[in-house]
Amino acid sequence: MPAPAFNPVTPDDLNQLRRILGAEAVSTAHADLDLHARDQSHHPERPAEVIVWPAEAAQVADVLRFANQRRIPVTAWGVGTGLEGNAIPVYGGILMSFERMTRIVAVHADDFQVTVQPGIGHKDLNDQLTRYGLFFPPDPGANASVGGMLANNASGIRTVKYGATKDNVLRMQVALADGRLLNLGARSVKQASGYDLLHLFVGSEGTLGVITEATLRLVPVPQFMSAALAAFETVEAAVETVVAVRGSGLDPAALELIDAAHARMLREAEGVDLTDHPTLFMEFHAAHEESLQMGLDIVKQICEEMGAVSFRATTDIAERKKLWHARHHSYEIMVRSHPDKRFFINDVAVPISAYPELIGFVEQLKRQHGISAYMIGHAGDGNVHVEFPFVDEDEYRLRMEINAQIVAKALELGGTSTGEHGVGIGKIRYMQQEHGPALDVMRAIKQTLDPNGILNPGKIFPEPEPM
Ligand SMILES: Cc1cc2nc3c(=O)[nH]c(=O)nc-3n(C[C@H](O)[C@H](O)[C@H](O)COP(=O)(O)OP(=O)(O)OC[C@H]3O[C@@H](n4cnc5c(N)ncnc54)[C@H](O)[C@@H]3O)c2cc1C
Repeated sequence: MPAPAFNPVTPDDLNQLRRILGAEAVSTAHADLDLHARDQSHHPERPAEVIVWPAEAAQVADVLRFANQRRIPVTAWGVGTGLEGNAIPVYGGILMSFERMTRIVAVHADDFQVTVQPGIGHKDLNDQLTRYGLFFPPDPGANASVGGMLANNASGIRTVKYGATKDNVLRMQVALADGRLLNLGARSVKQASGYDLLHLFVGSEGTLGVITEATLRLVPVPQFMSAALAAFETVEAAVETVVAVRGSGLDPAALELIDAAHARMLREAEGVDLTDHPTLFMEFHAAHEESLQMGLDIVKQICEEMGAVSFRATTDIAERKKLWHARHHSYEIMVRSHPDKRFFINDVAVPISAYPELIGFVEQLKRQHGISAYMIGHAGDGNVHVEFPFVDEDEYRLRMEINAQIVAKALELGGTSTGEHGVGIGKIRYMQQEHGPALDVMRAIKQTLDPNGILNPGKIFPEPEPM
């Protein structure tokens, strides 16, 4: 497959885009291009040539049909919180922002479902769902758009109980590169009709089609919630406890790990009552106060048996919110606390029984190379983020070498190079190693759905050698 050849956006193209979308929905202003040239990752910025803001699915389809005929790349943009360069328009072209498609189309409260346009932020969605006593559970922390979450198959702190984004979507409308609009899946919870195209598009990072609408599963807001914190002498003891809690039959709604350095940072920056120890953040949901208390008693006992140096549980809403606020903002706090450094974050995931071995391996590598790195993990899902600070190319290269070893270990343990952030730019290098011949099948699917390669080029697949 040769490297994609694209046409630059000409003044005539801009006029055609204005005809499709209206002049106010097309911009080549530097301020707009700059604002959409990079996401929250360390990958270098690359501006598009033009930004468009469609307001409805038909406009999305028309822009794609036009761009496909003209061989102009199109990169979808949610709100740019991706951590792997997924939405950076590396080949320029058209950047399609969903900031004007943020409507709730319908709430199907009796079915625990909502149909939305892709640009709505999941937090904004949940704010609006409060009055129905329902919420959309995947929670990646940042106010990511639903389209970006579907495209990246995002997860979050509640995945351990409620699943990833892929588990919480029932149907989608998707625009293909040639402008066809497809309806995939159904509103029925059970679906067995034909190939599961819905989930082909989930996690495809805007490389196969563009999501224009989605029907999501919702769950009732739990009646009773509690947060618990358990601190340990070592990371190893903390992760063994994760396996024990998961094996106990308890059903935590969140089971997160932060290392001692992170705990210190959250205390100093946010005033959270933490000591300098590896710490588990947990949350439990229940329909009855008694069952919540019983669960907390069991988890306290498990933590103590596993050697916790402290355990604290709270049902106080303000305290719980403060804890999760700190956890959710830990990445921003870390970046803010190191103004002279850049960060690259890994995202490996393994089966839960292999989690202690993975974490032990990471700790050993850090010691062996004498490097500092923060570690934070959605431990209940066997997912860890090692957050590597670096200042220059040499430091970056060494950390990438260490990361390659971590990825190899995760694959050996039956896991994956990316649990939730997606492939984007940074994980392309592991795709062959992880998927082998299955990568050729992915390429064939891409070729079928997007033969001109206009959809988010430069992502997921290793670039072919120049001809
Ligand atoms: C502080 C912080 C914490 C985070 N924590 C988590 C976490 O816990 N779990 C997690 O999974 N992620 C996490 N993330 C990463 C990020 O929030 C997710 O990857 C999220 O899914 C990105 O959504 P977005 O709307 O910002 O999408 P963007 O970054 O704008 O785009 C992401 C991808 O989606 C594609 N896309 C966007 N809209 C569409 C569409 N309508 N149709 C087709 N493709 C589309 C883009 O082309 C791109 O490939 C975190 C990020 C930050 C900054």
